[in-house]
Amino acid sequence: MAEKIKMTTPIVEMDGDEMTRIIWKMIKDILILPYIDLKSEYYDLGLVHRNETNDQVTIDSAEATKKYGVAVKCATITPNAQRMTEYNLKEMWKSPNGTIRAILDGTVFRKPILVKGIVPYIPTWTKPITIARHAYGDIYKNTELRVKAGSKAELVVTDKDGNETRALIHDFKNSDGVIQGVHNLDDSIASFARSCFNFALDAKEDLWFASKDTISKTYDHRFKDIFAEIYENEYKEKFEAAGIEYFYTLIDDVIARVVRSNGGFIWACKNYDGDVMSDMLATAFGSLGLMTSVLVSPSGVYEYEAAHGTVTRHYYNYLKGEKTSTNPIATIFAWSGALRKRGELDNIPELMDYADKLEKASIQTMEDGIMDKNLAAMSTLENKQPVDTETFLVEINNRLAALMQ
Ligand code: NAP
Ligand code: MG
Repeated sequence: MAEKIKMTTPIVEMDGDEMTRIIWKMIKDILILPYIDLKSEYYDLGLVHRNETNDQVTIDSAEATKKYGVAVKCATITPNAQRMTEYNLKEMWKSPNGTIRAILDGTVFRKPILVKGIVPYIPTWTKPITIARHAYGDIYKNTELRVKAGSKAELVVTDKDGNETRALIHDFKNSDGVIQGVHNLDDSIASFARSCFNFALDAKEDLWFASKDTISKTYDHRFKDIFAEIYENEYKEKFEAAGIEYFYTLIDDVIARVVRSNGGFIWACKNYDGDVMSDMLATAFGSLGLMTSVLVSPSGVYEYEAAHGTVTRHYYNYLKGEKTSTNPIATIFAWSGALRKRGELDNIPELMDYADKLEKASIQTMEDGIMDKNLAAMSTLENKQPVDTETFLVEINNRLAALMQ
């Protein structure tokens, strides 16, 4: 066997929970360590260790990601009441993804992997659509009240000198009702915009953004203006040089265009639009097991992961000693994404080439009909062969080894 590929800078490795933790080790043993002299700074984000460190490990891993620039993350449990007892937790620790995103000030981009046999519900989507969700503010940080008839509701802003500005929301003369206050920050919108522009340049794909600025003439219009200003001042020339486009339209118009498109672009969404539309796209493209995810900070830091969770149901079967058939593809692509980015930043062409071949071997395996049970149930291929997780990985490696010759 040829010499292993050397790395210069470590990638930040964030281990996780349940079935994906099992798959994590298998991927490393079967597909990565035989080819790469892996340099990684390891952080165990498994719930047991998060609890032991009072979640400090999550913060440390995010700081390390800032320092080195590239991380790969395994899916992790976000604790709820049931997990408190299951893991005997000191506290209901926050979602690691939320903590990491807040520290990196990043935007999440989700992109489906397209393979023969898994036909999107919209058959004209022949290229992936990448969706980016602004994960700050709007209704997710709102204040709401029920209002009694006879009340008057106003917005009141008090400036630093104590001056008040008031605006009427509604005079509830005859009926009870509801009100809601939402906000956003220019800084957060600007970070979101820069992450999107950087990602589009990186992917060499057009960027689409939409809001409802015709109705929301101050709030949504602020998003439109900040995007336009940053584009004009910082990205226009780079976009023209790369031969890509930034395109703004109304949210309802963009939906029509997305549905009629062939894919192959990045769709930036406000928080609520992104919440709803990312679930729509994931469903329409077919499988959670084929959805990748990367967190990109405005300063150009990348954290790669699968979009799915820890696949708890499969893990409980695994613990009973059953062979499980879980799809490792999105987690493999998290590794290939991180290694390729590391190769790009450190100018290691062999590492980028390995990442390409790992992805190619993974896709070839599925197109040869070898896949997990859930995917096989959806696939239109004739010669399907559902296999357990380990066999799936070994089959990928058979093809990878041939490509690496
Ligand atoms: P999930 O782990 O994504 O799994 C939901 C179901 O989707 C599975 O039971 C399975 O369906 C199917 N599925 C998902 N990924 C699959 C794969 N790779 N291969 C085959 N089937 C797959 O979501 P969940 O059950 O709602 O959440 C489980 C845990 O994950 C929770 O503790 C949650 O907090 C955490 N979570 C973490 C992240 C993250 O770290 N980014 C994201 C989401 C959820 P069948 O059961 O029908 O086979
Ligand atoms: Mg959602």
